[in-house]
Amino acid sequence: MKIAQVTKAAIENLPYHQLGTCNICGNITFFVCIDAKTARNNMYCPFCYSSSRKRHVAKVLLEQIAKSQIEKPKNIKKISSIAQLATVNHGSFYNADVDDAFFKYLHPSESYICSSFQPGIQPGIETRKRVYCQSLEKLTFADASFDFVITEDVLEHVRHHEQAFQELHRVLKPGGYHIFTIPCNFDQVTILRVDTSGDEDIHLLPPEYHGDRLRGQILAYRTFGIDIFEFLDKIGFKTQVDFSSYIDRKSGIFDSYVFCSQKIR
Ligand SMILES: [Zn+2]
Repeated sequence: MKIAQVTKAAIENLPYHQLGTCNICGNITFFVCIDAKTARNNMYCPFCYSSSRKRHVAKVLLEQIAKSQIEKPKNIKKISSIAQLATVNHGSFYNADVDDAFFKYLHPSESYICSSFQPGIQPGIETRKRVYCQSLEKLTFADASFDFVITEDVLEHVRHHEQAFQELHRVLKPGGYHIFTIPCNFDQVTILRVDTSGDEDIHLLPPEYHGDRLRGQILAYRTFGIDIFEFLDKIGFKTQVDFSSYIDRKSGIFDSYVFCSQKIR
């Protein structure tokens, strides 16, 4: 979206802008709404350009870190933003997103690895410092490499999501967390949009494409449903979902939910 379009959209959505504190850059800011109907994907922080969704992931991540601090009373300092997290050693991260608001603060750290899938590049190749080409269905990282893994709105676009979840489980350390967003109908079972059992995709429903910042329009293979919990349990994850509440609006977080799966076996 061009700056003129963003400005026009921001003016049109004036009543929805929200004053608050960004939990990524740590600034007091006005979260700018450019489309109230899709607030979770915008409500941008003018300082770090994070969206509502990104800040919701940050909220869940910071909560898990705070809990681990309770278990380790020597680390008393409460971390309230990703920018602050960057100044301390809080474990190893893998984010399947690059050049986002997390990247800005965490990428300088040796323990922050990220990836994007780039057709034509062999998975496992380091394309920039600590940025790898990876396929989530077959990660090249060693077992038990990370304390935290983050994926946002990506697993519905992976051909074989069971394999991807298993791979994310494999690369997590015992007790580690996969924090993620997926579209999910909590009152339905998973809707299979494409049959991926053979080599070729067979569309079972009219193709649905979602906009992706890096890759344009990408095909959604499924819409997840309530059965996802049973599946995650089966592979060794204990899963909770954080639904945004009125209080979260102070962090510019609107209308979203974030999954948090802990590797318990
Ligand atoms: Zn910010």
